[in-house]
Amino acid sequence: MFQQTQRKLTIQYSSLIMMFLVLFIVVVYTLLYIVILRDQHRELEQLTRQETRVISNYLAESARNELQGLGSQELVLAGVDQFFYYVTDTDGNFVMGSETVPPMRSQLFRLVSGWEPERNEIREESIKVTFDERRIGGREIEEQPKSDTVRLMIDGSPIFYNDQFVGMIYIGKDISFAYQLFHWLLIVLVSLTVLFAGVAVFISFMMSKKAMGPISSAFNRQKEFVGDASHELRTPLSVMLSSIDAIQMTDGVEADPFAQKLLRNMKSEVKRMTGLVSDLLVLARADSGGVERTSDHVDLREEAENVIESLLPHAKANGVSLGMEAPESLPVTGDRARLKQLMVILLDNAVKYSPDGGRASLQLTESGRHWTMKVTDEGIGIHPDDQPRIFDRFYRSDKSRTRTVGGHGLGLSIAKWIVDIHQGAISVESEPGKGSTFIVTIPKEKAAST
Ligand code: ADP
Repeated sequence: MFQQTQRKLTIQYSSLIMMFLVLFIVVVYTLLYIVILRDQHRELEQLTRQETRVISNYLAESARNELQGLGSQELVLAGVDQFFYYVTDTDGNFVMGSETVPPMRSQLFRLVSGWEPERNEIREESIKVTFDERRIGGREIEEQPKSDTVRLMIDGSPIFYNDQFVGMIYIGKDISFAYQLFHWLLIVLVSLTVLFAGVAVFISFMMSKKAMGPISSAFNRQKEFVGDASHELRTPLSVMLSSIDAIQMTDGVEADPFAQKLLRNMKSEVKRMTGLVSDLLVLARADSGGVERTSDHVDLREEAENVIESLLPHAKANGVSLGMEAPESLPVTGDRARLKQLMVILLDNAVKYSPDGGRASLQLTESGRHWTMKVTDEGIGIHPDDQPRIFDRFYRSDKSRTRTVGGHGLGLSIAKWIVDIHQGAISVESEPGKGSTFIVTIPKEKAAST
């Protein structure tokens, strides 16, 4: 139970830490993305302004009112990371320009031709560039054609001469390095996230362990107390029972009906208490994992017959008939004593909660790798609201009535525990006034375990 809570706490703590971590990383990445791109944006705008001014000044100096005929040799326009620049005339025809990879001129020019940028409009494009050869240390080295994607940021600006529009200038800036930076940044941040995820889980585990420490030690002390107290109570109770037997047989008392009645009541209460104490002991030991569980080869049919036989007097006393339906033999692996106890608990309840003249039956079946036990009665049934809670300790749907039939609300908790240690499942189908069916399904071959 504590392990489960600790696991839950660990998951909660680490998800919280991870959430903050991821949030932090997203914010850092986004901020860097925005800042770097904006910086590139600004640089490109500056470059465009500067080169537009150079051309305008040149036109003014040479007193030309058109760009036609202007050659690249007359003006050198270059900027940091400038991938290309093109100047077009009023009709959008190429006038001059240059690019880092000359064979790509037509492809690059197509990107900008006819584009009339709005104010502050900047475009981003990515193009594939194939390098056939590379220059290393001044020598040209033949290489496999290598293709790279280049990210371009493109700006365009009109050129005026004496307030008259004479053409456009387009500049493409290579911002691949920025994207490469983002790429690496992402890898580093994701690796850090993975690393910190491990650290977060470890820290969360330690924190939850620390938080659970005092609770689990208090619970262990309480469990030990219940176990010890139950154990210590058993001896005086059995002494009381044998003393009552002895008193009942004493001469004077034997003849006194009132004394006999009192002693009978006393005996039944002591028996009830003995039952309660032994149930408490079972659960206390189950909690501390201190119950020895065996893995026996059990023939369920044989055990069911024995259980029914032992319960017959009790059923008869309540006016309930007991029936059984099972295959000739049903061999399974499990803890013989616990499986018998499970049948006793369910059948005893079926008898207890059936009216005089009722019927209770036990049905055993096998299907594939599982066996199923159904205990059916035609008794008072269980209200749907109570059904999910009847396996809780000390839960009784009707406390006053249950007192008269002698229950104390631990039977089904023990039944559930027995089913759990056999890796099975228990459920109930019931309708008030019509009866109940308890269904247990357990793997045939699985040995009992923790
Ligand atoms: P108890 O000792 O009170 O029978 P259990 O844990 O065995 O305790 O059962 C819990 C409660 O579930 C009972 O008090 C009763 O209200 C209800 N219950 C269990 N079995 C049956 C049944 N066969 N028919 C009707 N009610 C049942």
